[in-house]
Amino acid sequence: MTEDREAELRASLEALRSRLDDAVRAAGRADGDVELLPVTKFFPASDVILLRGMGCEAFGESREQEASRKAVEVAEHFAGDGTTAAIRWHMIGRIQRNKAKAVASWAYAAHSVDGIALIRALGRGATEALADGRRAEPMFVYVQLSLDGDPDRGGVDIGDPALVDEVCAAANSTEGLRFAGLMAIPPLGAAAEESFVRLAAERERVQADHQQRLGLSAGMSGDLETAVRHGSTCVRVGTALMGQRPLTSP
Ligand SMILES: *Cc1c(COP(=O)(O)O)cnc(C)c1O
Repeated sequence: MTEDREAELRASLEALRSRLDDAVRAAGRADGDVELLPVTKFFPASDVILLRGMGCEAFGESREQEASRKAVEVAEHFAGDGTTAAIRWHMIGRIQRNKAKAVASWAYAAHSVDGIALIRALGRGATEALADGRRAEPMFVYVQLSLDGDPDRGGVDIGDPALVDEVCAAANSTEGLRFAGLMAIPPLGAAAEESFVRLAAERERVQADHQQRLGLSAGMSGDLETAVRHGSTCVRVGTALMGQRPLTSP
């Protein structure tokens, strides 16, 4: 039932917003410092439509096909009433290079950018999309760092600062893109505290080379308070808002 789902989402969104407000206050940070990015992967477009009605304007997705289909469905729902323009889709999952062009046609931002070849492909895709009107602004990119160097989980190895600098410089100078900051996911079994301390220090190091204030995409359902304490500017929250993810995606 849609009404049941609406009530459920309304309650969990309210609880999540107050949890985030508490975390921001406890960290001594200013209201509005940390963006809440609802992660809607595996959940249907109807949930995005309900959340949009509750004031959410940005949504995180992790798979290109699922996200592009959902973006179309949501856009069709709001067609003609001007609301669609306010929705920003964020790609937070790994991006295969051959999907970069497709991602650049719907994603306002990508949080999982971890190599120079991928940056070039996203830049080309975004530049083309800007030229033919599928995008109105450059794509914001976060460079994803790997805190343990495990190549299977994505991210630029934080233990190789020269490489981190090179990838960040490419993100900063590629046409069609805007370098927004750094992103990381704590390694499996690692303490969030230690992970986010390290990430925050790396942001300060990288910041010295850049004019714009760099953001930090860090924190999920289980560790958002820790991430906020260590400077996160965007928490990506799925389970605590949407419930357990179903096993198959819509
Ligand atoms: C799924 C996902 C999230 C949300 O995780 P939850 O624990 O459900 O809040 C955050 N970030 C990324 C990169 C994800 O893939």
